[in-house]
Formats: sequence, C-alpha cells, structure tokens
Amino acid sequence: MWYESTYSGGILMTDTRMIDDVFASNELRHDAPKVGCPEHEMRPEAAYQLVHDELMLDGVSRMNLATFCTTWVDEFARRLMSETLDKNIVDKDEYPQTAELEQRCVHMLADLWHAPDPSTTRGTSTIGSSEAAMLGGLAAKFRWRKRMHQSGKQAGRPNIVCGPVQVCWEKFARYFDVELRQIPLRAGKYHMTGADAAAHCDENTIMVVSTFGVTFTGLYENVEEISQALDRLERDRGLDIPIHVDAAGGGFLAPFVAPSVIWDFRLPRVKSINSSGHKNGLAPLGSGWAIWREAEDLPEELIFNVDYLGGNMATFNLNFSRPGGPAITQYYELIRLGREGYTRLQTAIYEVCRHLARGIADIGPFEMIHSGDPMRGITAISWRLRGIQPFNLYDLSDRLRARGWLIAAYPLPADRQDEVIMRAVIRHGFSFDMADLLLEDIRRSIDQLTEHPWTTSLTRKEAGSFTHNAVASVPTPDSVRHKGNSR
Ligand SMILES: *Cc1c(COP(=O)(O)O)cnc(C)c1O
Repeated sequence: MWYESTYSGGILMTDTRMIDDVFASNELRHDAPKVGCPEHEMRPEAAYQLVHDELMLDGVSRMNLATFCTTWVDEFARRLMSETLDKNIVDKDEYPQTAELEQRCVHMLADLWHAPDPSTTRGTSTIGSSEAAMLGGLAAKFRWRKRMHQSGKQAGRPNIVCGPVQVCWEKFARYFDVELRQIPLRAGKYHMTGADAAAHCDENTIMVVSTFGVTFTGLYENVEEISQALDRLERDRGLDIPIHVDAAGGGFLAPFVAPSVIWDFRLPRVKSINSSGHKNGLAPLGSGWAIWREAEDLPEELIFNVDYLGGNMATFNLNFSRPGGPAITQYYELIRLGREGYTRLQTAIYEVCRHLARGIADIGPFEMIHSGDPMRGITAISWRLRGIQPFNLYDLSDRLRARGWLIAAYPLPADRQDEVIMRAVIRHGFSFDMADLLLEDIRRSIDQLTEHPWTTSLTRKEAGSFTHNAVASVPTPDSVRHKGNSR
C-alpha cells in the first residue's frame, strides 16, 4: 500500500515512496506522546500499533486468578459487543429494544432468585456490583427514613451491619454518610454469624449486608441463618431489619449448582440483591444487576421516569450514559445457555477448582480454606500456609508472577489481619490443562523458594526472622493489601 501523505517533524509531506511497514514509518520512529496532547495526527494504523504494543505489558487476563471478572467470551458475544458499541443504554427512547432486553434480564434474574412475582419485580442493569450495591443501600436508607418518620421517631445516624465486605460497601458508607458496622472476624471464623449480626443492630440499622461469596475466601455467608437471627431479633426487640445480599459472586452460581442453599428472595427478609453479570454471569465487563424483591421495596424517590416510545420507563442509576453492550450480551448469555447450559458450564468450572485444590493440597504445606465446594462458596479456592516455612505466601505470589500467573496473597480482615491467605478465582475459559500448568509452576516455585530462601521478599528480610503466614510481625505493604481484597 502506498500512502499519499504523512507528517514529518510537523511538516505535511507527500511521500509516495514510503514502504508499507508501520515500524519504518515516521510516526513510530520516535517516542510515544506522553504528556502534552500531540500537535499532529498519526495514521490510525500507526497509532493502533503503538497502543496495541504498549498493552503487551499488561498481564495476560486469563492467567489473572486474582480477578473475579470475565476474561473469556465466545465469538458471538464479541460480535454483539462490537455491534452495540454505539448504543447508550440511557437512551430508552432511541433504543427501546436495548431497554427491553435489559428488562428481560431483570425478570429472568428475579425468577432465578425466587422473587414472589418476577414479572413485576423492579431492577436495573448497572455498570457492576458496586453501583448496584450503592442503589441497594440508598433504597434501604430511604425506606428506613420513611419508616422512622412514620413512627414519629427521631432518626439518628443510619448504619449498615456486615461482615468482611468488599470495598464497595466502605465506599457506600463514606459517600452516603452511613456508619459501617463491620463485625470483626473471630478466631476460626471467616465471616459474620447471625448472632453477631443481630447483636450489632439497632433502630438506625438500615439493613444487614450479607455477602454471598466473600471476597477474601470465596465462601458464602449463611444468609438463612442470619435471616433467622434477625427474625428472633424482631420477635424479642421489635426491630425489623431488612437484608441486602451482596451476591456479586454467587448470584449466578448457586441458582444452578446449589439450588438447595437458601440465600435469596425465598427469605422474606431479603429485600434486594446485587450481582455482577461480568463475574459468574459470564457477561463482558460492565454488567451488574440490582434487583428488589417487590416493586414497593424500591422507593419512588429513587426513580426518574423517562418518556419513551409508547410508555414510561423508570430509571434509577448513578450514571447517565453507559454502554448498552454488557446488558445486551448478558441477555445473549442467558438465552444461549439457559438453566441447563449455566449448570453444565458452572459445574465444569467447579470441577477445575476442585482439581486445582487437590493439587495444591498435595504439593505441600497448605491448609485449604475453600476447595471449590459449590454448596460452600463460589468458583474459587483459598488456602493458607501451614506451620513454619522458609517462605511466605507473598513470596509464592511473587514467584508465580514471574511465570505470568497473577494470584493474590493478602491479609484477612480485622481481627484476623495477622493471617495471610491466598486465593485463586477460577473462571470460564480456565481448563484442566491450565490448572495442571499452574500446579507445575507452584511446585517449581516452592522448590526454588525452599532452595533459595530469603532472596525474594523484602518483607521477610525486614521481619528479620523465620516468619510464616501467621506471624504478626510480617509487614504488609499497602499495595498488597489493596490488591488482595478490592477485586
Ligand atoms: C466484585 C465484588 C464487588 C464489586 O463488584 P464490581 O462488579 O467489581 O463493581 C462487590 N462485592 C463483592 C462480594 C464482590 O466480589
């Protein structure tokens, strides 16, 4: 191909002799624009090559077992995402069918999560679980304020009661001025119990947040037990506290592979649920869902009505403009797989989890916390180091990184912050073979760390002694802490 013109040193030149190799072009023969906005144009193929190549430095997403989010979709999902990149989901008027597909997903999820009447349930797609959590929290805050007002009570500062939560709840609390009553972990316990939850509630508690797929371990909180404890609280003290279930991870798993686990709208106290379509929902990034039990559980004050072709469309989102593709592609995944397909696929992913868990337990000094039991947690495994070892889990994480695997090591939340654990989230697209490759690398890494201790970890040197995962004196860099729990 011959190019008619190109820029050189700011002068537009006509150069019909240019050879068609982008790397020999003027654009790529100096450094990339970094600070000031560049003055001149670049041919799209050169700009593309530059951006594409810079991204090689990012990790390989499918080897990133720290993330919960979708890293593999099929060709048709890609096609839909590409076909819909011009669709703004907020334009219900212009794209009524996008709005329709979004609503179909809402009703399907209400059905999956046993809402009393899925055809009238209110819900919305969001950019992810974080936005959905904010909406669930806001709805609870509005309902509580109204309740206090109606009973003539003086409303104090609202609070939410929860166990070890994802950072979105800390955000909700701070952004919307709500007290976060996060119950510290007890020794031997990885999440909140019903009795603990009830003990922390008072009349300013807008809701208890129960996490169905705790970020740190992957384990489910026992929503049913928490609900029963709150039933007793109501009987004994007259406090009627609603539950919001943060099912970011479990909302698209349990309905298919653990239907006997009661965590959803089957419990009347559960008034709202959020889930990440872009996690186990198998949709691409940008898909989250917030669903309320019954229409009345979503206060009118949160709803803005938008007129659109032949009707009125309720919207309640924090964002205005947002891509329509993720919700559209969620619909594609739901109708493509159905209950049968999701069950088969999620079952296969759990099998890989258990295979990996068995392999890790076989390799060595590890105690499994979650081994991929579908009744107990999401498609993840977590473990800790047993006994005193010549390396810690940060060292192992570092070593694996050298082979391209991203596996988080991080401390547990308070009051067990002195204990370090490791977690691998297994997702669509992670095969038995990849698990075997990972196991081989874990084995190799441990051999290396055992043969050459002390060499990899600054933190261990600073600690100055033979430390292991349960020793309080191992300093934890903030970066590591945040990486671990914020996914
Ligand atoms: C991932 C996660 C979130 C946040 O979800 P996003 O979709 O990333 O915004 C919230 N809660 C839990 C339990 C999670 O695992």
